[in-house]
Amino acid sequence: MFDYLIAGAGFAGAVVAERMASLGKKVLVIDRRKHIGGNAYDHPNEDGLLVHRYGPHIFHTNSEQVFDYLSKFTSWRAYEHRVLASVDGKLVPVPINQDTVNTLYGLKLKTEAEVEAFFASQAEPRTSIRTSEDVVVSKVGRDLYEKLFRNYTRKQWGKDPSELDALVTARIPVRTNRDDRYFTDRYQVMPKHGFTHMFENMLDHRNITLELGCDYRDVAPKVKFKEIIYSGPVDEFFGFRFGELPYRSLRFEHKTLKKEFLQPVAVINYPNDHAYTRVTEFKHLTGQAHRQTGVVYEYPAAEGDPYYPVPTPENAALYKRYAELAAATPNVHFVGRLATYRYYNMDQVVAQALTLCKHLTAAPEFAVKAAAAAVGLSLPVRPALGV
Ligand code: FAD
Ligand code: UDP
Repeated sequence: MFDYLIAGAGFAGAVVAERMASLGKKVLVIDRRKHIGGNAYDHPNEDGLLVHRYGPHIFHTNSEQVFDYLSKFTSWRAYEHRVLASVDGKLVPVPINQDTVNTLYGLKLKTEAEVEAFFASQAEPRTSIRTSEDVVVSKVGRDLYEKLFRNYTRKQWGKDPSELDALVTARIPVRTNRDDRYFTDRYQVMPKHGFTHMFENMLDHRNITLELGCDYRDVAPKVKFKEIIYSGPVDEFFGFRFGELPYRSLRFEHKTLKKEFLQPVAVINYPNDHAYTRVTEFKHLTGQAHRQTGVVYEYPAAEGDPYYPVPTPENAALYKRYAELAAATPNVHFVGRLATYRYYNMDQVVAQALTLCKHLTAAPEFAVKAAAAAVGLSLPVRPALGV
């Protein structure tokens, strides 16, 4: 008899498994993939290069709690992520900063005030910022929007930015200074020996049983447990009762190149050219010394494994129906990016899972609220991470 059956060995499942096991609960963790780590899984490829199977994963957070928690399972390598975009034959920093503007327009703006004035001269005023188009056009105008955002977003999501919630492009700030880091979070680090190694440490507990390569639907009827923690797609859990929730997928094309480095930074975005959105070179992320180099090309796709919830008003309405059903389903707790249909980064999933654990371990009268919190209905599960 297990206290918890946990579907998914990604961040959501692993955090809950580790926390509950450490409190003496017996936990069965299953994953339909043959490995742990969920989408953060990394591994040495056939040439000995450490690569991220499901695309580049860079850890960043403002949450001391999340950072301290994960630090129990890994040491870290300091790493500040930098991204360039290939536009009009030039490589320019993303997020847009002073150098992006100077390079693209042949300008020599030197102060933040000058860059601010440039943006103001380009910006199209909007009365309300609802969509991903509004976010960018209202800040930097249509030309920069078209050079950097419009086509990338159409490729990545199969939708125009005007159809997507503001939160998608709002992930990328606009800067008037020369800061060319992708993130400005307080903690920007990579697990020193990789994400998978960190997950191995999290799940290495005598109260945790791990079964890989098996689906929740096949396992659940065969084992005894008290409660379920589910981190797979929420619509699938309910047999697509209200219809399918759209998730965007990607096809990853991995390659080893017989050269030491391909590109000057970890990621180069291709907003307007090619069928892929970006090229990642892992050695920049991992710090690995190797004569060859491992890269991945990301091709967005409608079909395939679910990677991204698609933030549109219609999808939010459909998710709300599933969230209500989830909240009313006893002894099942939904947690993670797919189960709560949120475009969450790793640290946000860790924070969400830690919050769920707090509720699970609180007095029984909180049990109902825990279910609601996990699907974001009434309790604030998204901590103020500032990300
Ligand atoms: P997942 O990692 O998806 O884990 C869910 C697990 O559940 C999966 O392993 C799946 O196989 C399993 N599962 C599902 N259904 C079942 C079932 N029925 N039975 C058994 N098992 C099941 N975040 C960052 O912070 N920084 C980044 O740089 C970053 N880059 C990203 C790049 C890409 C291309 C993608 C797709 C995501 C990126 N993320 C990044 C987000 C990050 O991957 C997620 O926030 C995090 O991995 C979510 O963890 P999770 O446990 O909720 O879900
Ligand atoms: N985006 C863009 N151009 C860029 C970078 C990002 O249009 O050069 C938009 C695009 O819609 C993308 C979103 O901003 O999906 C979020 O970018 P991020 O790099 O955070 O995406 P992720 O790493 O989650 O795939």
